[in-house]
Amino acid sequence: APVIVVLDGPAGTGKSTVSREIATRLGLSFLDTGAMYRAMTYWLLQNGVDVDDAEAVANASAKPVILSGTDADGPTITVDGVDVSGPIRGPEVTAAVSAVSAVPEVRTRLVDLQRGSAAAAPRGIVAEGRDMGTVVFPEADLKVFLTASATTRATRRAAQLGVADPAGVAAILADIERRDAADSGRATSPLAKADDAIEVDTSEMDPEEVIGHILGLVRQ
Ligand code: C5P
Repeated sequence: APVIVVLDGPAGTGKSTVSREIATRLGLSFLDTGAMYRAMTYWLLQNGVDVDDAEAVANASAKPVILSGTDADGPTITVDGVDVSGPIRGPEVTAAVSAVSAVPEVRTRLVDLQRGSAAAAPRGIVAEGRDMGTVVFPEADLKVFLTASATTRATRRAAQLGVADPAGVAAILADIERRDAADSGRATSPLAKADDAIEVDTSEMDPEEVIGHILGLVRQ
């Protein structure tokens, strides 16, 4: 049967790097579900939808055609046929994505797409996000929940974005703390650790150590 490995956790835990590398080494497909919420958000912003108006977001949420290419060696994300892998990482999308992802209609639609991607994966899939182990793939073969201190996560994000000045790093830390609160503090919070997930604190680990640790869990 196809294998399902899921990694959940907040931003900046190294989830993306680690998940993708695990998929590559295991020969599995790879799905970055945050990219799908970002793609939805990008489309709404481009089309003048007020992202703070939950009803407007819900009404528009069926319109964009979001496609995730799940090849771990080169994952892709398109909206209405256009590659949006660059713009979905921009500050406008990052600022708006928590509000969009709180809308139930958005979640229902994207969860359907995520399950479809897993069903189409020939050997199985590594899926990363916030609710993979709890909502999307409760039957997953392995559930990992990654954590790291907020400071560690801000430093990593800054390095990824090429930000070196202290004010820039502080702004990233503030944004991470704001998104943590938005993602975990509300009634419709997607971020939750499944009871059967294995928690890995990556604060003091480099990516290769995290990958090795998780591959060890896969083999158990
Ligand atoms: O993983 P990434 O930081 O790109 O995710 C962007 C945002 O998408 C998160 O802050 C969260 O609000 C939302 N998200 C979600 N459920 C997922 C993945 C991401 O709500 N499974």
